Parts: sequence; C-alpha cells; structure tokens
Amino acid sequence: MPLLSEPRCPKCDSVLPVAKVWSRFAYRGLSLQETTGVRCPVCHDALVIVQGRAVIASMLVVLIGGGGLGALVAFCRYVLGWPMSDVTMVLLMLPGVPFLMAAQAWIVPRFCRVRAVGPAEVVRFPLDERGGTGGI
Ligand SMILES: [Zn+2]
Repeated sequence: MPLLSEPRCPKCDSVLPVAKVWSRFAYRGLSLQETTGVRCPVCHDALVIVQGRAVIASMLVVLIGGGGLGALVAFCRYVLGWPMSDVTMVLLMLPGVPFLMAAQAWIVPRFCRVRAVGPAEVVRFPLDERGGTGGI
C-alpha cells in the first residue's frame, strides 16, 4: 500500500473520485465548504468526505511550499548576493505557484477519509449535479 493512497470504497475497495471533487469544489483548494459526499463509481455507495486531516495537509502544503519558495529566493538574494529588488523576488516566486497548486491538488485529497452517510444527514454530491459535471 502506497504511503499516500487515494480514498477507497469501504464496501468494494474501488478508488473514489475524491480528488476530482476536491479539485473542483474545495474553496481555494483549502477545504470543502459544506458536508460533501462522493459516490463509489462501482457499487454507487454514497459516502461522506471527512476532510479534517486534508484541511491540515492543505495548510501545511501552502505554508511549507510558500515558505520554501520564499527561502529559495531569499537564499539567492542574501547568501548568493544576487542583486534584486523586492518586486523581482516576488516575480521569481511566481513560476513556483503553479507547481505548488499542483502539489496541493495531488497531495491533499489523499488525506481525506470517507464514512457512511448518517440518517437524516444533508450531504451534497456535487459530481451528481448537472449530469456529473458538477456545474463546472
Ligand atoms: Zn464501492
């Protein structure tokens, strides 16, 4: 079992499309704003996405990745002595942002867990809306 594997269906062990839900519906890639669910593509079991660990992982990716980018540029400026203004420092960090976002989109859903939908629990299944596109 890989260290960071995608969430699987507890009933049939199929990979769940949690990454798809997260990439499309997580607010700024940080967290889902309401109780959100996903259906197993094989057995169609309805499951709730439990995002507590994923939110922490998301924040850590942003903090560590952003801090790493800043530290790399600061290293070039202050240790290597590259002459650059503050604006240049920010511009040098910008190309790293897409890589940071890609890392976040890959890592964070792997920290999600799933559980069964509780009785009378209101859960949104965004991939079921508008023909499975989720409206986006
Ligand atoms: Zn299943």
